[in-house]
Amino acid sequence: MKGTLCDLKREEIEENWSAVCDLVRKPKYVCRKCARSAKNKDHLCKPKRIAPAGG
Ligand SMILES: [Zn+2]
Repeated sequence: MKGTLCDLKREEIEENWSAVCDLVRKPKYVCRKCARSAKNKDHLCKPKRIAPAGG
């Protein structure tokens, strides 16, 4: 899938549904701008590593 989750349009989310689900299943990063999450920082526009629980 090309681009970031942040850039996806509603129709593109539907078209790439299984890929989108794979990207958000075990997130390691959150977008600082959009609050989206993904396991790979390449799929967010302003990625930041998720803080450990309690941190
Ligand atoms: Zn973003």
